[in-house]
Amino acid sequence: MLFSRKKKIVSLEKQNERLLNEIQNLKENEIALKDAIEQLKEKVNDLLWEQAHNEGLFDEPEEPDYSEACSCGGIFTPMYDEHPNWIKFCSTCDSRFENYDASPIKEPV
Ligand SMILES: [Zn+2]
Repeated sequence: MLFSRKKKIVSLEKQNERLLNEIQNLKENEIALKDAIEQLKEKVNDLLWEQAHNEGLFDEPEEPDYSEACSCGGIFTPMYDEHPNWIKFCSTCDSRFENYDASPIKEPV
């Protein structure tokens, strides 16, 4: 009777040890899975970024072209970058024209 109980205890202890090992293994699996998930998330982010980049979402908007052809064959270009629609001049014949509507110094209405 006593012997049998001891045997049972030993058997239960072994079982307990096996279960503890299993728990440890599961914990390690969990960590590995979390790592894998993090890596997948990073890959998805990379792919999303690449896709957005391919679709041109991050491209710089193109500078509008404010220059105009002059009758002399030259090109009118803005005199002031800050007010590209205001005064334009031709670098070839030096003629210029002013767009009063775009003037920054016009009287307030
Ligand atoms: Zn000109």
